[in-house]
Amino acid sequence: MNSDQKIKVVILGSTGSIGRQALEVIDLHADKFQVTGLAARDEWEELLEQIDRYRPAAAAVNDGEAYKHLREGTAGKLKLFNGVEGLSELAALEEADLVLIALSGAVGILPTMAAIRAGKKIALANKETLVAAGEIVMETAAAYNIDIIPVDSEHSAIFQCLGVSPQAVKNIWLTASGGPFIDFSQEQLQKVSVKEALKHPNWKMGPKITIDSATMMNKGLEVIEAHHLFQTSYQQIKVVLQPESIIHSMVEFIDGSFLAHLGVADMRIPIQYAFSYPLRYNSPAAHLNPLELSRITFVPPDHKRFPSLELAYHAGKTGGTLPAVMNAANEVAVNSFLNGQIGFASIPVIVEKTMNKHENMEARSLENILMADQWARNFTEDLITREVK
Ligand code: MG
Repeated sequence: MNSDQKIKVVILGSTGSIGRQALEVIDLHADKFQVTGLAARDEWEELLEQIDRYRPAAAAVNDGEAYKHLREGTAGKLKLFNGVEGLSELAALEEADLVLIALSGAVGILPTMAAIRAGKKIALANKETLVAAGEIVMETAAAYNIDIIPVDSEHSAIFQCLGVSPQAVKNIWLTASGGPFIDFSQEQLQKVSVKEALKHPNWKMGPKITIDSATMMNKGLEVIEAHHLFQTSYQQIKVVLQPESIIHSMVEFIDGSFLAHLGVADMRIPIQYAFSYPLRYNSPAAHLNPLELSRITFVPPDHKRFPSLELAYHAGKTGGTLPAVMNAANEVAVNSFLNGQIGFASIPVIVEKTMNKHENMEARSLENILMADQWARNFTEDLITREVK
């Protein structure tokens, strides 16, 4: 393949866990994929190393200081963009074929919309964008005839199991590992440290999603993500704990058939599939040996100890701007937990308080969604400052 035929990839969030693993996938298939754009939040040193290695046509950061360093470090060798507008410009880069959205948080909304409007194929690893703005994003993608291929392991699994019969779905079974505190009592959950919460038993991930996995808000966000991606009602989306993380999700069809996706817990598999779809290539990930599997267990989630899942079902079913508010409050609360300002058990309490104070608006306008997101961030920050005093 000459370089004109290679798929040209933009990675938003290239210094994060998903972004780095995406670069490993591209390294392995350098005959098929080529990096044409890289963006990070503020990790300019690592971004400079990546630019040196992959020689993209453009790069962006979402931080003024980092932008200065990037400009000095690259000396006019490539196009540079700054801020959320810059991420959006990079997402719409003319030479790009495919955009991997691997940013963390609702900051992904505008770049995702920009990539869709520019006609790019989307590999979506940024669930917060669909949680906050799912209706608009999916409607716009349909209007522009754009495929959004999920990277989230559960949604990649469902996408693959749906195959040619998406109209015959009875239920979607989202599996959850249960996180590191699956067996903790409510008292134990009160005393959880940041270090303990950052230790996920099965998956290697960034800090925000690892904390979300520990509170089970991650699964709640994924329920809303599945609702938008697969156009299924909330009643049809079930959550079940599968602590060994072998089954990545299942689809139950109207004829009683279940299709499940099994594999090792390695994000390079769903990242690569989003790049190669509908083809499959060999992967650096290990393969399962079914003979070595001792057992696959299923356990119902405990809503008392992990109230975040119910909050997400409530937000999703209510609709409007409430999911955006829940997501923004959660981003702030998780950040405050990581900074040591609040305890682990306070995260869902703060999210719920913010949700209760929100005056819901319709979510068919991006302005409403961004306004609700900003309101929730301000409200949650005030709440935390008052409670910490
Ligand atoms: Mg997931």
